[in-house]
Order: sequence, then C-alpha cells, then structure tokens
Amino acid sequence: MRLLTLIRTACLFLAVAILTVAGTVRAADPRPTETASTPHPAQTYIDRAAAAVRARPEDSVRDTQAALKILANQPNADLEIRARLLLCDHLSERDKAAAEAEVAKARALLPRATRRGLEAGVLNCEGTILETVSENARARELYEQAVAVATRAQDDEMLAASLFARGYLLGLQGQYATGLADLKRGQALYEELDLPHHSLTALNGIAILYNRMGDYAQARYMYDQALKVQREAGMYREQGVTLHNLGRAHENLREWDAAQAAFQESYDINRQLNYPRGEAYALRGLAAVKNAKGDPNGALQTLEQAMVLQRQTPDARLNAQIQLARGVALHRLRQLPASAEALQAALGVFRQADSLSELRATYGELAAVLSDMGDWREGYAHLLNAQETSERMFRNQVDQRFATLKVEFDTAAKEKENALLVRENNANQLALAEGQRARNWQRAVIVLTVVLIVLLGILAWHQWRSTRRMRTLAMTDELTGVPNRRAVLTRLAPLLRQPNPPSCAMLIIDIDHFKSINDQHGHAEGDEALKAVARELREDVHEPAFIGRLGGEEFVVAIPGADYDRAYRLAERFRESVMSIDTRRWLNDRRITVSIGLTMAKSTGDTPSTMLQRADAALYDAKRAGRNCVKVQLPAPESEAPAPMKPGQVEFA
Ligand code: GH3
Ligand code: MG
Ligand code: MG
Repeated sequence: MRLLTLIRTACLFLAVAILTVAGTVRAADPRPTETASTPHPAQTYIDRAAAAVRARPEDSVRDTQAALKILANQPNADLEIRARLLLCDHLSERDKAAAEAEVAKARALLPRATRRGLEAGVLNCEGTILETVSENARARELYEQAVAVATRAQDDEMLAASLFARGYLLGLQGQYATGLADLKRGQALYEELDLPHHSLTALNGIAILYNRMGDYAQARYMYDQALKVQREAGMYREQGVTLHNLGRAHENLREWDAAQAAFQESYDINRQLNYPRGEAYALRGLAAVKNAKGDPNGALQTLEQAMVLQRQTPDARLNAQIQLARGVALHRLRQLPASAEALQAALGVFRQADSLSELRATYGELAAVLSDMGDWREGYAHLLNAQETSERMFRNQVDQRFATLKVEFDTAAKEKENALLVRENNANQLALAEGQRARNWQRAVIVLTVVLIVLLGILAWHQWRSTRRMRTLAMTDELTGVPNRRAVLTRLAPLLRQPNPPSCAMLIIDIDHFKSINDQHGHAEGDEALKAVARELREDVHEPAFIGRLGGEEFVVAIPGADYDRAYRLAERFRESVMSIDTRRWLNDRRITVSIGLTMAKSTGDTPSTMLQRADAALYDAKRAGRNCVKVQLPAPESEAPAPMKPGQVEFA
C-alpha cells in the first residue's frame, strides 16, 4: 500500500519534472508565441483608415471619425494621435485651419503616448502644412527633426514617412541627390514593412525628382510603371496624382497630345473623387497644353476654373503655376500689363521656393512681355535673370545628376552590403538559437537524470527498509519482541561449529503452571505474563549472552564464554528475578515462577539441537523436583578414541 503511494508520488514528480523541462525548452525557443491580448476596438478602424489613406481618402476619413468616436469613450493616446494625424494628412491640402487644429490635438496627446515615434508623425504633419504654403525652410527643419525622432525611437514606419517628406522637399529645393537618397531609403522601408501603397507613393516621389532633375524620360518611364501597378491595385486617388505627374513629364518633353490625355484623365479622376486641389493641378496642365497648341483663350478659361478651385485650398505653388500659364496666355492675346502682373505674382512665389525651372520660364516670359511693352531695360534685366537661372539650373542638374549617380551607386553597394549583413546576422542568430536549444536540452537531460537517480534512490532505500523489516519480523517473536527460536539457533550454530569453541551454557526457562494462569485469569493476562517474563529476562541477559522464545511459555538463553559455575549463578538469578515480578495489577499478586534446565556445550561436536535435548531433560528434572528450581544435565564425559592397530597385531574374536 505504502509502496503504491510512493510509486504514485514518484510518477507525479516525474511528470512535473518532464513538464517543467519541456517548458524550459519551449521558453528558450526563439519562435514568437502568439499573445492573446484583445485589441482596442478603435484599432481596426485606424488600421483600415491608414491603409485607405492613399487609395480611398473619403473611406479613410469615415473610418478615422468612427475610431475617434470610440476613443471618446475608451481613450487611448497612441490611437488618438494616429487618428488625428490621418485627419491632418487629409486636411493639409484642403483646409489649413482644420489640419492645424488636428495636429495641435495630436501634439497635446504626445506626453501620454507610449509609441515614441508618433512625435515624428506630428512633426511631419506640421511640416506638410507649412510646405503647402511654401514655407519650405521651416518645413524642412521639422522634417529633419522628424527623421531624428523616428531614428531615435527606432520606429521604421515613422522614419519612412519622415524620409519621404524630407526627400520630396529636398527634390523641390533642387537637392536631387540627397532627396533621392531619402526617397529610396523611405521606399525600401515601406517595402520591408509590407506597405505597398506607401511604397508606390515613394516611387512616385522618386519619379517627380527625376522630372525636376530634367531627366524627363526617366520620370515618364517610372510614372508609367507606377500607373500600371496603381491601376491593377485600384488605387484611384493615386492614379489621379500619377497621371498629373505623367502629364508634367510629357509637357516637359513637349509631347502635347500625350500630356493632354494624361492631364484630362487626371482631371476626371480628381473630379470624381471630389478633390479640388487635384482638379486644379490637372486644369493647369490642360491650360499649358492649350497654350502650346495655340489656344490662349481656351487656356484662360481653363485657368479661371483652376483658380476658383485653387482658392478652396490655397496652394501657393499651384497658384504661381496658374499665374505663369495665365501670363503666357495673356501674352499671346497681347494683354501685356495683365500678363506682366500675373507673371510678377508667380515670380515672387518661385523665387521664395527657389523653384528653378519655373523661375527660368517665368523670367523668360516676363522678359518677352516687358520688351513687347517697350520696357527694354527691365526686359533685358529679366532676360539676364532667365539666362542666369537657366545656367544655374543646368549646372545644378549636371551636378545633381553626377551626385545622383553616386547616390545610386552607393545605394546599390549599401543594399548589397546590407543583404550580406542581414544574411550573416540571420546565420548568427540561428547558430545562437541552436546553441541555446542544445544547452536547454542538456539541462533538461541533467534534470531528468537527477530526478531519476533520486527516484531510484528512494525506491532502493524503501526496498532495503522493507527487506530489513521482513527479516526482523522473521527472526523476532511477535508477542514478546525477543528473538524467536530460529534466530537463537541460527546464532548459536556457528559458535558451536568453531574448531575450538568457547565454553557455552544453555538454559531453557519454562513458566510453571502457565496453563492455570490462562485458565484462571484469561488468555490476555497470560500474554501479559509472557511479556513481563520476557522483559525481565531481557534486562538480565547481557552480551555476549542472548535470549529467545522457544515457543509457548518457554525461553532459551545461550551464554557463550560462561563456565558451569557462572551459568548456574545466572540461572538462579533469572529464577529469582522472575519471582520478583510485580503481578498485582493483573494476577492478583500471584507470583510467577520458572523452572530452568541447564546444560553446557561439549568441547567439540555439539549442536544446538543436542544441547536443547539435554537442557530439556534438565528442565524435566526441575519440574519433577517440584518446579521453581534449576536442574542440570551435563554432557557425558568424552571417551578416548581407540588407538589405531599396530601392524601385525591380530584381533581376536
Ligand atoms: P508446567 O508447569 O508443567 O509447565 O505446566 P504448564 O501449565 O505451564 O504447561 P502446559 O504445557 O501444560 O501448558 C502450557 C500452556 O501454555 C498451554 C497453552 O495454552 C499456553 N500457551 C502457549 N502459548 C501461549 C501464548 O502465546 N499465550 C498464552 N496466553 N498462552 C499460551
Ligand atoms: Mg512447557
Ligand atoms: Mg510450563
């Protein structure tokens, strides 16, 4: 029963150990385990809004507003900042004041945000608002800060957005090489983050930059590519933007029909999307085509329309572009003062933005208008300005093209290097993880081995204890606790078998009239009497003497090393001790007496059983002599062995 309990406990222990070990091994497994935390209910809306921001702006705004409603009841700073930034992004081109209000709310929430990179998002949106009103220097400062913040926070998504914003602006400012590097880094990050729409926007940005650099053919190629992807992905709003940019590339390449087709499609899409700023840009393009095709009146009408739309979402640069086209149309119609006025207005903005190609075109046109008006001096001055700007632009374009080539080369080299590093890093991590796993298994095996050793130890100890108990039980008399007959005889036999055994006495001690004790006082009292006698004798028997119960009411005492006199004295002492047992409690003061038979071992050839026979005979004598006495039966004196016959001696009958 106890062994069963022990085995059950052992199994339980082993199971716990195995589970613990398995747990340890799994814990060190580098594969991520899924966490089961419930997302905030606004999270889904925000994620959807972020995905749709480029493709379906109206859906994006609706989802953002739904998220904000939920956030009003269940606040979460991170999510609300993201929602406000999405709105700001949408409004920056449409309603400056509303965009500023959203970004101000987002900034106020920053101290409570857990995602540090969100500050970059706020800076980007603040920059975008400034960029829309051509405050490019201040916008650039904010983008620089955004890149720094996102880098510090190791927030790749925010870093990509900041790089895109900075790169785009750098391109606008004629710093094509650095701009290109930013845009390429941003695009690569978007690819890594698996944000294909954002990546396409970055690609578009790169194409715009090529366009600005004067590499119109390259730009046209990239726009065509982007357009194909956008058409397949159903990115409607993006198509509107790309088509406009494609129109610009054609315009710069003087491919007027293609330009017209692109601007027209862009216009249709933006109109359908109710995106006035996009419409206005497309109309400006269409007007430029009309000017080129010799239809200044048509161009003016189109530009009127563009101006109305532009006023809804003031965009300084767009306005300047419209004024440039107006100036050209009015010049063709010989409305010289109005043309000059429009061109002067455009000049101010292009100068401030340092937009060289537009500046050159405006100077050139203005020079011609002023000359036609007879203002030769001013006209000449502007012609010089146009030449100077043109030179600056070409110089810049050449410089930048060299720098760009270098950036492209560096980027390719860096990508190769990064790929190598990533591969090396992956290999290292794999090796580390393998090492860790191996160490864990080692630990597991050690733990299991220790557990098994402990278990085996416990089982062995238990086995040893139960064997010892069985042996003790087999050699002990259950009632009195003294050794039994077998134990005494087993101990005595080897003593007698020795070549020169020591002298040894044996006593059989038998309780007198024991049957009557049972009969008169009961069997239980008889047992008490047996135990009392055993206790008394045990106290008197000292090593090397030993005692045992022969059976019934008989005890045996072997006394190795004792001679006859000592043995006899001891027998007498035992008899007297038994008589002195206090029996008041259970035998009404009836004395217990014993009769004792004594014998001594022969000097050789005696055995426990022959000794027992003699002692028993002596006991019988004691009973016959009236009991309560000691009687002796010594072995017969050993006779001399007959002498061997001498040779020649004859035996007679
Ligand atoms: P005598 O003086 O001749 O030895 O007489 P006696 O009564 O002691 O001897 P007898 O052999 O006639 O009776 C021995 C009794 O001991 C018989 C038996 O019932 C009793 N007996 C044997 N073993 C036990 C035991 O373990 N407990 C008890 N209570 N009685 C026992
Ligand atoms: Mg007897
Ligand atoms: Mg007896």
